[in-house]
Amino acid sequence: MDKFDCIIIGAGPAGVSAALTIARKGLTVTVFERGEYPGSKNLFGGVLYSTVLNKLIPEFYNEAPVERHITKRRYSILSKNSEMAVEFDFEDFNHPPFNNSFTVLRAKFDRWFAQKAEEAGAVIFTETVVDDFIYDNGKVAGVRARREGGDVYADVVICAEGANSLLTERAGLKKKPLPHQMITAVKEVVSLPKEVIEDRFNLSNNEGMALEFFGEAVKGMIGSGFIYTNKDSLSVGVGCPISVMKEKNMKPNDLLESFKSHPVVKKLLRGGKTEEISAKMIPELGYGNLPRLTADGLLIVGDAGGFVNPSLYREGTNMAMYSGMMAAETILEAKEKGDFSERGLQGYVKKLEDSFVMEDLERYGDVPEKLSEMPQLFKEYPEAILKLAKGYFTVSDLSKEDMHRQAWNRFKDKVSMWKFLLDMYKARKAVL
Ligand SMILES: Cc1cc2nc3c(=O)[nH]c(=O)nc-3n(C[C@H](O)[C@H](O)[C@H](O)COP(=O)(O)OP(=O)(O)OC[C@H]3O[C@@H](n4cnc5c(N)ncnc54)[C@H](O)[C@@H]3O)c2cc1C
Repeated sequence: MDKFDCIIIGAGPAGVSAALTIARKGLTVTVFERGEYPGSKNLFGGVLYSTVLNKLIPEFYNEAPVERHITKRRYSILSKNSEMAVEFDFEDFNHPPFNNSFTVLRAKFDRWFAQKAEEAGAVIFTETVVDDFIYDNGKVAGVRARREGGDVYADVVICAEGANSLLTERAGLKKKPLPHQMITAVKEVVSLPKEVIEDRFNLSNNEGMALEFFGEAVKGMIGSGFIYTNKDSLSVGVGCPISVMKEKNMKPNDLLESFKSHPVVKKLLRGGKTEEISAKMIPELGYGNLPRLTADGLLIVGDAGGFVNPSLYREGTNMAMYSGMMAAETILEAKEKGDFSERGLQGYVKKLEDSFVMEDLERYGDVPEKLSEMPQLFKEYPEAILKLAKGYFTVSDLSKEDMHRQAWNRFKDKVSMWKFLLDMYKARKAVL
């Protein structure tokens, strides 16, 4: 075919949601994916948030390769050899749609999702890198793909290239992100027998658990560590802003090793076998620094657009899918009007603004910046709080009142109470 209705760059959640929506309406759509197969180059934590997917493919969880649905969440602060944690267990999340949160392994999930788009009529070329856009009178008219006959044309192009968005930058829609605006994350898949995982994390059937660790988990830096339970493996990882890693002269793999060797984490991983390790970036651009999302003949979706909620919710997949779906709907409208100019595609931005995507980015987009102004939250406070707790629980001949007084005095020596309470208030506002 000489010309498609739409070309999509990248077969991640954003690109495939767009391809599926467009193909179902009978338009011609082709996706170029650089990986050997969709998902082969992808990794995430991860919990797939699926309100959008459940609209695209109702009850997808009955057929998709999901690992476990999340019923338990645990947030934990580590000091050198202690832990303070809060754990939530929701029996209600055991029923469809399972609170729309599932652990998945991207190599399996993305492949399945891409097949759904192919079944709807999308054509996916794998092992094909797109090197650039082709312009006609200033309008994007196609892409230059690294394969034979690589110049391919379309009415409109969707760029779903993910966090490392070189093409979006080259098109002049986005500035190169600064080191504090990108998280570098490294993740390991650790295999363990299903029964061991269920015993160790107190899970039954396909229940799953998401564990987030702060403080010493990432050497007291801004960032976190995580463990997510899959069927017969654990996803284990750490992530911190590139700027902080550079400042502390820390390498991602060393940070992961340090996390895994923390006494609390070590117990959870014991007996596990490393299956794979990979690294990737997460954009945390801030609401005010989002890229321009449209140009003549071009739309930007998913991580390339900076659509990741950086708060405790850590939601990227749902936003990626929603933006892909909205880009597709905008293209269907533009097709009817025959107008693929930037003005003709503006409906996309409006749809995002009227949705949870922009609302959440506006509410949480600046969380990383706010937290970076309070480094004490990640080191000084966790250590002081855990020492305070230790003072309360250490058995001695002192009266309980004397024990408590001593513990509080030690705490107040390290931490100004007013500043602590103010910081806690600011932190709660920032992350919840
Ligand atoms: C360590 C980590 C943990 C995360 N945890 C979570 C989590 O728990 N929950 C959550 O919701 N989100 C999480 N995220 C974020 C989530 O993974 C992303 O928001 C989501 O994958 C974005 O989807 P996307 O389709 O925009 O991009 P991607 O999934 O990155 O897909 C982009 C695709 O484009 C392809 N591509 C790139 N450039 C080209 C090119 N030039 N030519 C052809 N193909 C190209 C890539 O190979 C890739 O397949 C995490 C991310 C990381 C890195």
